[in-house]
Amino acid sequence: MILSEQKPFEEILAFLGKDKSVFIIGCNGCAYSSGSGGPSQVADMKKKLEDAGKKITGTKSAAFLCEKALVKTELRGKVNEVAAADSVLVLTCGVGTQAVSASINKVCHPGCNTINRGGSRGEWEGSERCFECGQCLLDFTGGICPLTACTKSLISGACGGANKGKCEVSQDRPCGWEQIYDRLKSRGLLDKLQAVINPLDHKKIMVNPKMMSLPLFGVENSRPASPKPAAPNAEVKTK
Ligand code: SF4
Ligand code: SF4
Repeated sequence: MILSEQKPFEEILAFLGKDKSVFIIGCNGCAYSSGSGGPSQVADMKKKLEDAGKKITGTKSAAFLCEKALVKTELRGKVNEVAAADSVLVLTCGVGTQAVSASINKVCHPGCNTINRGGSRGEWEGSERCFECGQCLLDFTGGICPLTACTKSLISGACGGANKGKCEVSQDRPCGWEQIYDRLKSRGLLDKLQAVINPLDHKKIMVNPKMMSLPLFGVENSRPASPKPAAPNAEVKTK
């Protein structure tokens, strides 16, 4: 299970900016269990955004948002409602928000932060990975996580070392920041690159000690972990 919590409403409103119409999608998997993106949170968010003057073109509570094929299947009956919206608000973890953003050609805003609980398990093993930084930056990066897509986990832009789209650290990996640039460009969002992103609060990346005393922590951590991305700024071995 991946734990997530909703971002403050003011932050969500700031992400939506001048968008007049919004489609809201939540996840009936971990986000439902977390109380951050289940059907009741989707309904509550619809009301709050309508009260704030936004038009909601539609909502969807999908089974799981961390798998792109499922996202596309779940949204099949909602194509017109998604198309009518200026953007999509996604109420789920970082993996799910990335999967939604990769699945639909639409501006997607993260409505949640993913909380580090010492390793996530249960999500689909897609190409989207989340480091559970607790301060989701996906709004600034076109829905691609800079912590996991960039080998150096840079959050403020490319290092400049990429060669023909490949990372300077490992030619096996595409440059995450080139992917972010291409995504932002394709959605008319290049101005997002001008945003000043605050340094990460590393307290949020560490596991909350309170979390470790929960029975769930012991149960989850007694099982083999899913592959995790390298820690931000971790040493990367080169040949
Ligand atoms: S920025 Fe990346 S690591 Fe942080 S919550 Fe979002 S997807 Fe996860
Ligand atoms: S070349 Fe590698 S380290 Fe540099 S920005 Fe791209 S992914 Fe990050």
